[in-house]
Order: sequence, then structure tokens, then C-alpha cells
Amino acid sequence: MDTPLPTDILVVGGGPAGLACAAALGTLGLSVAVADPRPVVAAADDPDADLRSTAMLQPARDLLEAVGAWDRMDAEATPLEVMRMVDATRDPPVARDFRADDISDRPFGWNLPAWAIRKALSERVAELENVTLRASGLAALLPRSAYARATLEDGTRLDARLVVGADGRESKVRDLLGLRARTVGYGQTALVFAVTHERPHDNVSTEVHRSGGPFTLVPLPDRDGRPCSAVVWMDDADAQARRMELDPGAFSAKATERSADAQGALTLVGRRAAWPISTVVATRMTGPRTALMAEAAHAMPPIGAQGLNTSLRDAAALRDLCERRPDEIGTPGWLDAYARARHPDAVMRAAGIDGLNRVSQSGGLAGLRATGIELLHDVAPLRRLAMRMGLGA
Ligand SMILES: Cc1cc2nc3c(=O)[nH]c(=O)nc-3n(C[C@H](O)[C@H](O)[C@H](O)COP(=O)(O)OP(=O)(O)OC[C@H]3O[C@@H](n4cnc5c(N)ncnc54)[C@H](O)[C@@H]3O)c2cc1C
Repeated sequence: MDTPLPTDILVVGGGPAGLACAAALGTLGLSVAVADPRPVVAAADDPDADLRSTAMLQPARDLLEAVGAWDRMDAEATPLEVMRMVDATRDPPVARDFRADDISDRPFGWNLPAWAIRKALSERVAELENVTLRASGLAALLPRSAYARATLEDGTRLDARLVVGADGRESKVRDLLGLRARTVGYGQTALVFAVTHERPHDNVSTEVHRSGGPFTLVPLPDRDGRPCSAVVWMDDADAQARRMELDPGAFSAKATERSADAQGALTLVGRRAAWPISTVVATRMTGPRTALMAEAAHAMPPIGAQGLNTSLRDAAALRDLCERRPDEIGTPGWLDAYARARHPDAVMRAAGIDGLNRVSQSGGLAGLRATGIELLHDVAPLRRLAMRMGLGA
């Protein structure tokens, strides 16, 4: 059997979070291996392309710039300058605009296709000589006191001072180490698709509430000369399964009706994808020689663009600790510092998004929700606090 290969860090999972982490640690000069069997797609029309669009908030952009990946995705990015919240159960609907220029001289964030984020990050990682990409999954993990020995499905063995589990909500790293996670289901599915529409979006992201979950339009670049937005539509799983069967014309009509005329008539362009919705929170973010990050540690419903943005804060925390305490990487004290830096924030954000989702899902709480939107917006200190917290404060 081949001798195990030594590396400072093994990142298990080359999704956007794992790749961002690898780029951040590689930029520090550490030796990093990334293991993931899933190929990277190069274009939106690839049948395996992840159709989700991801709003990268200000701190996420700062990290992506620092690791040298932002320039590769900038051309695909649409700024988000206003977040409009609408409760369409009242007549007329309650609508309030939260403006980025109320708290910052930059947009809240930039909307990007998920496949483009992963592509840009994998290209950046491939450029770093001290980072190697291995197209194979993790098969076994044996932590020792000074390193963890990982065996990949292709038989490669690696001895790493630190294993980063970035292998998604069904994390094998978490399972192999016996780390527990609490999972909450909502019986909801998110439909993800793009639409062209009658009126320009003016870089406004609109979240429309009725019942079943939010219907969110997020700005994209014009398509075929028409204004275009990405949509995340959350609702009861059975109703969504029926909508997936509708022909494009009938589906567009249903989406237009649900949007409460946010942008005029909506026309579906391209494919639809369905994502089951749950919250997953690991009870601990560390094990021996191991740190969990991103959806392996915390996954939440897609509200307020918190998912990947929270994950990139894990990557930034790992980078900062590696920079400040390089000799202690992967030791118990070092791992405790990581857990202290990240676990409370992840738990708090997951709980907050869980609450917002329940309020959005419920028809019975509509009155409370509409009043909540008015209060949150109309009381200026509350409004600014909410916006700063949404950005990661
Ligand atoms: C509808 C929807 C909309 C969203 N919108 C936003 C948004 O606007 N803003 C935002 O911040 N977030 C958003 N999110 C959340 C965001 O998309 C996810 O948090 C993010 O894509 C997950 O990235 P990840 O790298 O943690 O996990 P994944 O993308 O799941 O990557 C995990 C990787 O691990 C690999 N893997 C699995 N097992 C193994 C193994 N044994 N060995 C090696 N590799 C393995 C997989 O192949 C995969 O590539 C949204 C989510 C949904 C569902």
C-alpha cells in the first residue's frame, strides 16, 4: 500500500464553501488537498448546472476578493440595492423597501448563478500550486493525536493536521466521527427558476409573502433584451410537485399570480429545479483533528440569503485562525477557538431563519407578519439594525 501523503489541510467537499475555504487557506501558503468526486460545470446550459442563484453579501465579496476569486465571477454579478418585502394578504398589499444606501455606500450584495461561483472558485484553486484537487470521495477517516488519516474512494491516503468537513448537509465526515445534527423538516419545497418580466427590476430584490413560504425575485442581467430575475418559490411540497408538471405557459401564469404583480407578467425561461427545505444544525462543529463548516454544520431555508454567506464566515474564521496560530492547527485548543467563533452565530442564524420561515409559511400569522414588516421598516433604528444583522453583524 502507498505511503500516506502528508498535507496541512484536507478539505472534504468541493462545493462553493469547501472551495472558498481551500482558496483562503491555500492563499496563506498552507498545503491543502480538496477531495470531491463531483465534476465542475462550465456553463448554465449544462444539464448538471446548479440553477440556484446566490446573493453574495458584502462580507462574502470581501472574502472572495481576498482569495483572488471575485474577478472571475464579477461579469455574472448583479447588484442588490433594495430589498422589498411585501405582504400580499392585505388589500392593498403592505410593501416596504429596505435600501442599502441607508447603511452603506455599497449594495447589500451581488446576485450570482451558483454554478458560476463554483466554477470561478475551482479555477482559482487550480491556480494555487500548494492546493491539489482530488476527484474522489472520502471513504474512511481515522483521527490520531497529531493528524487525521483519510482514505479516499480511489485508495489515496492522506495524513492531515486538520480535516475540514465541507461535504454538505448529509456530511460523511460528520457521520464517520459520530457527530450529531438536529434536522427540522417543513414539508416545503423550493422551486428555482428564471423569468423575464414586463417591468425593469432596478436592482430590487422582492420577497412576496402570502402563505406556504416566500416567493422571492432576485435581479439577473437582462435576457433576450427583457428584464430578468431568478425566482425562489417556497411552498407545500405536494403543491410544488404538481406545479413542476405544468407546461411552461401554465406555470408562468401561476408564478405571475403568486408574485402579486411585483414585476408584471412573468415568463419562465429555461429549466425549473426543486429543492427540499430543511434546517440542519450540528450539535458540535468540531471533532478530533476535524472542523465542520458550511452545510455540513448548518443548513437553513433560503430566506435572507443567509446560507452560503454564513458558510463563507466559517471559511474566514478558519483562515484567520490558521494565520494567527499556524503551529496549533487542528489541536484541541485551536478547534475550540473555531467552535467558539462560529457555532453561536450559526445556531442563532438557523433559529432566526427557522422563525421567519414559519411566519412566512403560516396563513394564520399573516396579520402579525404584515405588522412586523411595517414595524421593522418604519422604526429607523430597528430597520438599520435588521439590515446590519442580515449582512452578518
Ligand atoms: C433554493 C436555494 C436558494 C439559495 N439561495 C442562497 C442565497 O441567495 N444566498 C446564500 O448565501 N445561500 C443560498 N442558498 C444556500 C446555498 O446554496 C448553500 O448553502 C450552498 O450551495 C451549499 O454549499 P456547500 O459547499 O456547503 O455544500 P454543497 O454545495 O452541497 O457541496 C458539498 C460537496 O461535498 C461533496 N461531497 C459529498 N460527500 C462527499 C464525500 N464523501 N467525499 C468528498 N466530497 C463529498 C459533494 O459532491 C458536494 O460537491 C440557497 C439554497 C437553496 C436550496
